[in-house]
Amino acid sequence: MSDLRDLYEEVILDHNRSPRNFQKKPQGANRHAYGFNPLCGDEFTVHLVVEDGIVKDVGFEGAGCAISTASASMMTQAIKGKTEEEVHALFRKVHDLLIHDGHGEPPDIGKLRVLAGVHAYPNRVKCATLAWHTLNAALENTQHETVTTE
Ligand code: ZN
Repeated sequence: MSDLRDLYEEVILDHNRSPRNFQKKPQGANRHAYGFNPLCGDEFTVHLVVEDGIVKDVGFEGAGCAISTASASMMTQAIKGKTEEEVHALFRKVHDLLIHDGHGEPPDIGKLRVLAGVHAYPNRVKCATLAWHTLNAALENTQHETVTTE
């Protein structure tokens, strides 16, 4: 577990220092959702460009702690170019990984597995899930819906 924790901290710090697709509203964005985690004060708006069932571009705006920012940053990298079905499947896998304790078969989600390191900080799990719930709401095309982790 300590290796995972080291890797986790390294990845979180890197993404927090230079978040990908951050403070960006892609041109032609047609799906949006706002998410808020009252436990920590993290808030993000996720913008998606979805064309022909494919996430062509993604960006997020807002402010949050290192974990929420890094999770959102990694999310944007993971979903770009994927179909809506693939993104839904990825959401479920990441959600399971973050909500449950990571026991059992590790999901096939590549680099995102490092997010399981959040289990060392149980009160930060909602920071890590925020962007993913917001993404899900944006995909459901619930324009400007507010998502909270509560
Ligand atoms: Zn947070």
